[in-house]
Amino acid sequence: MTVRELVVLGTASQAPTRTRNHNGYLLRWDGEGLLFDPGEGTQRQLLLAGVPSSAVTRICLTHFHGDHCLGVPGVVQRMSLDRVAHPVAAHFPASGREYFGRLRAASVFHDVLDLREEPLSTDGPVASGPSWTLEARRLDHLVESFGYRLVEPTAGGCCPRSWPAPGCPARTSAGCSAPDRWTSAGGPCGWTR
Ligand SMILES: [Zn+2]
Repeated sequence: MTVRELVVLGTASQAPTRTRNHNGYLLRWDGEGLLFDPGEGTQRQLLLAGVPSSAVTRICLTHFHGDHCLGVPGVVQRMSLDRVAHPVAAHFPASGREYFGRLRAASVFHDVLDLREEPLSTDGPVASGPSWTLEARRLDHLVESFGYRLVEPTAGGCCPRSWPAPGCPARTSAGCSAPDRWTSAGGPCGWTR
């Protein structure tokens, strides 16, 4: 079954509140689980959201300010504790390789996770699967930063402004690859904006 879901784990940026954790976003996309910018406490936020550590297949860091990365040790160690069997890619700005190394080895643990570091140094495609491509592009910030975008191949579709125009293929097809929509196999398309 196709699973496409954004799990917001935290939005509080540098200072958490009683009800909002630091950053943390898990995008479940078919068989992938992309964890963006896990701040402190992300391991527990995953637990509260009912998401097992094994759901994570990629860790994507935009930059190395703490609210975007201090959750890496807990998440990585939890995945190792849970004996997650699949490889996990880690994408981050290459200039922060030293920081990532520290986070990965922040304390002693029995490391059995197949964590593969894939630092970014240029804009462009980062990884791809049968129905998606993960792209990175530099952002303007105080430190080197990359934003990420998951792209589906364009195949037909119709202008969102005309939705729901009669004859729009997205209304009747089982799947819709129009770039401005979420898609759900066998179901209706919905807006992303
Ligand atoms: Zn920052």
